[in-house]
Amino acid sequence: MCIFCKIVNGEIPNKTLLEDDDFLAFEDINPSRKIHALVIPKQHISSFDVMPPKVMGEMTAFIQKLASKLEIKDSGYRVISNIGEHGGQEVKHLHFHILAGEYVGKLVSN
Ligand code: AMP
Repeated sequence: MCIFCKIVNGEIPNKTLLEDDDFLAFEDINPSRKIHALVIPKQHISSFDVMPPKVMGEMTAFIQKLASKLEIKDSGYRVISNIGEHGGQEVKHLHFHILAGEYVGKLVSN
């Protein structure tokens, strides 16, 4: 079972920011910005590349709700999904990085 599936089923602890029946948002263990959340579907989907469009729509609404909860809608934020080897994806369970809390617009190597 992958590490994010273990987070979903409670085997590995996490700092939950928002949760519903289908999605979970939690703090990245190694934050690269002041606010660094990860948003995942609870079902195992290996990457953005194989995500059904319907899930993308639902995740979009969930991320917008998370942005409200984190009070970053006005200041802004960045949404990133790394895909495969060249995309730098380490965890093979679809996730979106939500970066915020400071200027996060510049592309960086990490
Ligand atoms: P990626 O390189 O896009 O696959 O990103 C994987 C992210 O998962 C990294 O930013 C890690 O810091 C994060 N991560 C790995 N294990 C955990 C964990 N147990 N709890 C929270 N975040 C994690």
